[in-house]
This record gives sequence, C-alpha cells and structure tokens, in this order.
Amino acid sequence: MGDVRDVVIIGSGPAGYTAGLYTARAMLKPLMFAGYMSGGQLMLTSDIENFPGYPQGIGGPEMMMQLREQAERFGLDVQDRNVESVDLSERPFKVLVEGEEFLANSIIISTGAESIWLNAPGEAEQKGRGISTCATCDGAFFRDEEVLVIGGGDSACEEATFLTRFASKVTLIHRRDVFRASNIMYERAANNEKIEIKTFRQVKEWLSDDNGLTGAILEDPRDGSTEEITASGAFIAIGHKPITGFLESQVETDENGYIIHKQHTMTSVDGVFAAGDVVDTRYKQAITAAGMGCQAAMDAEKWLEENLH
Ligand code: NAP
Repeated sequence: MGDVRDVVIIGSGPAGYTAGLYTARAMLKPLMFAGYMSGGQLMLTSDIENFPGYPQGIGGPEMMMQLREQAERFGLDVQDRNVESVDLSERPFKVLVEGEEFLANSIIISTGAESIWLNAPGEAEQKGRGISTCATCDGAFFRDEEVLVIGGGDSACEEATFLTRFASKVTLIHRRDVFRASNIMYERAANNEKIEIKTFRQVKEWLSDDNGLTGAILEDPRDGSTEEITASGAFIAIGHKPITGFLESQVETDENGYIIHKQHTMTSVDGVFAAGDVVDTRYKQAITAAGMGCQAAMDAEKWLEENLH
C-alpha cells in the first residue's frame, strides 16, 4: 500500500485553497488535486469588489494565484490534475487520478459548481461559436457587435455590464420582471446606456446561419407571443450546478446534487468533508466559500486527531 495522506483536497476555488492553507499550517501535509483548470469560477471573473481587504477590488485570476501562493508557502502540495473517481467504502479512502491511485485518511471536497445551459433548440450547435456561459472568456470576440445575456441574477447583470466594454449593444433577457440580482448589480446594468433590459422573455429557439449565431426567437411566457431578436453572441447566466459526478452517489446530496453536511462540515461519510459552492445552496460568495474551507480544514484536523492520531 502506498503513502497515505492525512488530507486530500479535491478542487481549487477559494474553499479549497483556504482548506489547503489551514491544513498545511496544521502540519497535515495536504495534497490538492486542483483540476486541469485550477482556480474555479473566479478564474472566469473580471473584478472581485466584495472580498474584504481589497479596497480597489482585485481580478479573479489574480486573487486565485495569490491564494494558491499563500497556501503553497506553508506546504500545500498542488497537482493540476482531475480526479476521476473516489472509493469511500473503506479507509483509507482511494482517490483515482488519471489511472493513479492515491490514499487518504480524510478528504475535503471543494469542487464548486459549473454553469447551467438553457438547452434551447439550436444551442448545442452554437456552443463555443456564438453561445457561451463566460463573458470574461469570450466577450472580446464580440467587439462592436450586438449580444444577448440571459438571466436575472447577479451573474447576468455582471456579465451584461462587463460585455458593454466590447459589444455595441447588450440586451438582458429575463423570464420575469423581478430580479434576483443584488440592487447594486441590477442598478449598474439598468443605468448602463448600452444595456436594454427585456423582461418576460424566454429563448424559444436560437437562430443561426453558416457563419454562426444570428439571434433568437423570444417568447413571452405570459401569453406565448413571440418576437425575433438579432445578435451575434449570447451569454447564458442562469445559475450553476454542483460538481459531484465523480462521487458516484457515495456522499449524500440533496435533490439538486448539493452535498449535505451531516455534522458541521462533515458529509454523510465519516472523514469526508465538503466546503464551498458544492454545498452552498444560498450564499455562493468567494468569502463564504473561503470561510467554509477554513471550517472544513479545522473539522478535518479535529476528526483526524480524534480518530487516527
Ligand atoms: P441565480 O441567482 O440563481 O440566478 C439565476 C437566474 O437565472 C434567475 O434570475 C433565474 O430566473 C434565471 N433562470 C434560471 N433558470 C432559467 C431558465 N431555464 N430560463 C431562463 N431563466 C432562468 O444565479 P447567479 O446569477 O449565477 O448567481 C448565483 C450566486 O452567485 C448568487 O448567490 C449570486 O449572488 C452570486 N454571485 C455573486 C456575484 C457578486 O457578488 N459579484 C456575481 C455573480 C454571482 P428566476 O429569477 O425567474 O428564477
């Protein structure tokens, strides 16, 4: 049997890096599998204005690099590899990474969440051509063009505002007239002269030609009436779903796939902890994820002390 690590952390957003920082400082020699695209969703965020301690704001990728550097300084071992599966049926737990098996006395899951797609007719063909879920990644392709943003939350308002840097016009499309977005984000979008907000509209179908997206047919959910809108780009911002597929149902989740905490940050499996957006159905902020990462690290440390050391 190979080396058994005390703590393996899966996922590298603010929750994972904070768990890494705390467990490294607790001398637990944590090993993190950060994924091929380490850093999580904040790598796709332009400016973070609401993380305390950054009066001028900070870029998402920059913050993630700093979090990583800080945790590595105390000994967090980071591997930019994807976890394929885990075996939690007995301890030490097994973590399978590209065919290589790692053993762990405890695991902290901080895999976060991924964007939900609308899956309207015509969408699959235009993914990566004209339809995207990441304005930070793809916004610059639509310089002086007209784009759509779908959704009524903070993500949609933030993406719409960001896209005005490039696009000649942004139409924000929401299925009702009440926005989930915080006032500050909504107002910023509503007051931007490049943004038009259309409420009570849903995408019925995407329209395209040989060169890519040309627009969409929008439907009013109240009476089913339709209209056509022209756009060469569209950004879907209708929320996220937790990344738990690799767990193959070995950890209890709710009906939407979010991991359930059984005691503090411990999951239904003793010795397996979870933190951040993979658990969080309510707050989903960088600061709350980081806080939960700290809690998971402290819970794992205590659990190891009581059960193994
Ligand atoms: P969200 O708050 O869940 O909003 C999703 C939006 O998409 C809702 O307006 C929803 O409409 C709409 N929607 C869902 N399914 C849809 C469908 N099938 N067709 C059309 N519209 C649909 O998601 P989010 O905006 O990604 O935000 C998630 C969390 O991250 C929130 O807690 C948010 O505060 C946070 N966040 C924070 C910041 C920041 O502080 N800078 C930035 C981004 C996100 P209904 O309202 O009708 O359900």
